[in-house]
Amino acid sequence: MAYDENNIFAKILRDEIPCKKVYEDDFALAFHDINPQAPVHVLVIPKGPYVSMADFTAHAPDDLVAGFMRAVGKTAEELGLAEDGYRTLANAGENAHQEVPHLHIHIFGGKPLGPMLVGHALGGEGPGGY
Ligand code: AMP
Repeated sequence: MAYDENNIFAKILRDEIPCKKVYEDDFALAFHDINPQAPVHVLVIPKGPYVSMADFTAHAPDDLVAGFMRAVGKTAEELGLAEDGYRTLANAGENAHQEVPHLHIHIFGGKPLGPMLVGHALGGEGPGGY
């Protein structure tokens, strides 16, 4: 899929629409999700035009790949989630219901999140999954 320069996260990166920023460096921007699914729900996006994890890891320069992954860890630290734990998740494509076509890693935390493969993660309606 070609990168859409007008997707909402591209606009956030260009400062055309606001976000509740958590962390920023040369490689990544992290901000609170507008529709949180957990007490803490933050998105981390790379500073570059990549649709998905596959696109990013195939085409981004090594310093950006490394810097972005480090930014995910730093963001979780800055949110104070490292000690109690948290979950990261990246949706890609239609089956995963990716809504915004700019790579983003969700960070969920702030409460016990339950086992991973229940509820929403398998497309069901049960509680506990994200
Ligand atoms: P996904 O389904 O993985 O593509 O997730 C997209 C996420 O982006 C959803 O959790 C939305 O709530 C979130 N989102 C959409 N627009 C915004 C925005 N302007 N600021 C922050 N989060 C947003």
